[in-house]
Amino acid sequence: QMKLYVKELASQIPATVLKVCQTYKDNGFQCWLVGGCLRDYFLVHNFQDIDLATDALPAETQDLFAHTTDIGSAYGTILVKEDGMALEVTTLRQEDDYADGRHPEQVVFAKDLKADLARRDFTVNSLAYDPLSRELFDHYNGLNDLQNKLLKTVGDPRKRFREDGLRLMRACRFIAQLGFELEDQTFLALQETKNALKKISQERTASEFNKLIEAPFAEDGLRAMLETGLLEIKFPELASFSEEQWQRSWPLLKLAEPGWRSLVLAKLISDEQGIKTAERFLQNLKYNKAQIASYLLIIANLRILYDKQATDSALRAFIQKIGKGNTLLWLKLYQVFDSLYNNHSASELKKMEKRFQELCLDPLTIEELALKGDDLLKMGIPKGPRIGQIMRKLLEIVIEYPQKNSWSQLIGYAKELSNMP
Ligand code: ATP
Ligand code: MG
Repeated sequence: QMKLYVKELASQIPATVLKVCQTYKDNGFQCWLVGGCLRDYFLVHNFQDIDLATDALPAETQDLFAHTTDIGSAYGTILVKEDGMALEVTTLRQEDDYADGRHPEQVVFAKDLKADLARRDFTVNSLAYDPLSRELFDHYNGLNDLQNKLLKTVGDPRKRFREDGLRLMRACRFIAQLGFELEDQTFLALQETKNALKKISQERTASEFNKLIEAPFAEDGLRAMLETGLLEIKFPELASFSEEQWQRSWPLLKLAEPGWRSLVLAKLISDEQGIKTAERFLQNLKYNKAQIASYLLIIANLRILYDKQATDSALRAFIQKIGKGNTLLWLKLYQVFDSLYNNHSASELKKMEKRFQELCLDPLTIEELALKGDDLLKMGIPKGPRIGQIMRKLLEIVIEYPQKNSWSQLIGYAKELSNMP
């Protein structure tokens, strides 16, 4: 079955890639497709972005092509632009010393493809393909592992994880993205070498973790992190969940679309450990301040009991409190957690959603008022806090009666409020 894909591979290579490879060949170099792009090709049967490897040095690549961008020549990567396509080309490397467990001590360029494939993390990431000779290089049995859905390191897993602790996170992230199983020794090695993750910055950890939770098999990825002790190291707020809590959490996470699963996790953390701990979790995910503030506001206001009888103006005031921009997400989270708390019917939830969407069209912020602060100055109200007070009063009126948001009506109210004739 996989053999078939190998045969088809030749016909799937974009013409531009062939052209680039031919240019290398004409100049006495070689060039291969490598790594994640082949893995994804064999799994989903098409190419996303294509990564190339060459035995030419970065400077030689820059000489060969008219349009190149240096995106890390120290690490050997040059962007080659050809026919409107941008291709990342990396010079073959071999790496010997990983003294700090974080970065390869030094990058050593190589001429040998096999050495380059040996330094790659997982067998399914270690394939290479020469589109001119149509040869597939599979030194580490990657095709077989792809077929058996096994994630396995290239070489001794303990050694490979100790060399670079980021690989521990990458392993769990690939489990979540690919739906693969961890090969036994690789799993045991994750447990044994988990402390190598301590050397990895929170930024890089968070970047992998965010991909993990948004992936199709997020539950498997999180379980892998939990069972190997990695979750405890970087996200203790989550690691302290009891098995019962996890059982309650999985269906909720599944209900959340990719993009805001972290919000669901933060809400679950907040329920058990308080909003401060949820905040720490979001900080650990390296979200910016504004995003964290929005998420916390949504979480803090989730447990309202929605009542059909609630007046429009009461709901408008609520939307104003959580912010219009947050309302859609608030609704989504509300719907996810409704299964735990309130149990509205699906049609009730739909109606509620429609109602909130409509109310969001009403003016709910000072910026949306038909009267501006400048208009008050022109009326003769002096610059100062009084202006803000009047504007807020006007907003209260408009939230109660949106139809009053016209310049002529608001100027009338403003006059009354400022005690002017
Ligand atoms: P994706 O692009 O979906 O994140 P990928 O496998 O392409 O997945 P990249 O980070 O783009 O991941 O890396 C490209 C290739 O480089 C990988 O397929 C792998 O062969 C190799 N690689 C990346 N990071 C490491 C690492 N920390 N240790 C060893 N090899 C790595
Ligand atoms: Mg990639």
